[in-house]
Amino acid sequence: MTATAISLRGLAKHFGQVRAVDDLDLDIADGEFFSMLGPSGSGKTTVLRLVAGFEEPTAGTIVLGDEDVTRKPPFARDVNTVFQDYAIFPHMSVLENVEYGLRVKKVGRAERRQRAEEALATVRLAEYGGRRPHQLSGGQRQRVALARALVNRPKVLLLDEPLGALDLKLRREMQIELKEIQREVGITFVFVTHDQEEALTMSDRVAVFNEGRIEQLATPVELYEQPTSSFVAEFVGTSNLFRGEDARRLVGEDGTFAVRPEKVRLAGQAPADTTGLCVAHGVVREVVYLGATTSSVVDLDDGPTVTVSHPNTDTSIDAAVERRDQRVVVTWRRDHLVSLGPSTQETSPEEETA
Ligand code: ADP
Ligand code: MG
Repeated sequence: MTATAISLRGLAKHFGQVRAVDDLDLDIADGEFFSMLGPSGSGKTTVLRLVAGFEEPTAGTIVLGDEDVTRKPPFARDVNTVFQDYAIFPHMSVLENVEYGLRVKKVGRAERRQRAEEALATVRLAEYGGRRPHQLSGGQRQRVALARALVNRPKVLLLDEPLGALDLKLRREMQIELKEIQREVGITFVFVTHDQEEALTMSDRVAVFNEGRIEQLATPVELYEQPTSSFVAEFVGTSNLFRGEDARRLVGEDGTFAVRPEKVRLAGQAPADTTGLCVAHGVVREVVYLGATTSSVVDLDDGPTVTVSHPNTDTSIDAAVERRDQRVVVTWRRDHLVSLGPSTQETSPEEETA
């Protein structure tokens, strides 16, 4: 059993009527890359600010390692935070920026220099110590911000949407690098994002937040393959959801069911052997070319709409486009259906608290 880096019990933060964080229990292991994923306003930043000590909880406790820090000020907590709007001093060199925190802590000059150079090497900026911040790209500046936090050698690093300002290509590169850096330094990372791809790419485990609570806590594979609620099924990737009458007709059972678009097949006619398959008929309404894949939207005869995703391995876009407005058969394996509980739960995430 690995040691626990962060332990939250009954943690709550209310702002007037708003329950930003609502009775949260959570354990994050030492050395884990842990992500908090959720839509805007779901309470992710507030959790980080509570852990860092920038907010006082309405209720509950925060334990770091084996120390209860609930009532301790930020500087007495062995954590560092990296924000999206990283504060880099423009008048200092990159190396001076990284050294700054150690200077404040009165660490001696030689050690300061050595640790700052180490931190810069860790973020792949060993050659950039002499530069000024304005001579760096956005991605490089974000690395300086990371080095500034790593140089303190905290037990836990809190990262609040640190890649949010970068363009997609750079963000994807940084995702892979961040994960590598985390593995190298062995520090616990708590990473906040609203981007499901980002959370799936980097994390050992992901907590999906909804209205100040955790909807599901799981590994990326489990989250994608076995979502436990329609909120998670729709927020992490895309899902076709069947409820009520649709579920009875298409699945043959009461309940709420999800099937991923890439598990659905589309053909001109039904296969000869339909053992273990769900089969439905409809008309292709839209065909969307997405480069690596093509998505087809099919209006089923008695509703609902089903999205089918196919890899463009051997097919051309033309073949898919020819199907527009055509009658088709869609099939999926019954064992690819995920059961999401009773059908009575037909409220969307926003309506639940109304
Ligand atoms: P996220 O980071 O997931 O977008 P936040 O933690 O920032 O969510 O916010 C959660 C909820 O708490 C939101 O409804 C937000 O408006 C509210 N909130 C956050 N900080 C404050 C504050 N200082 N005062 C009042 N309400 C706040
Ligand atoms: Mg936030």
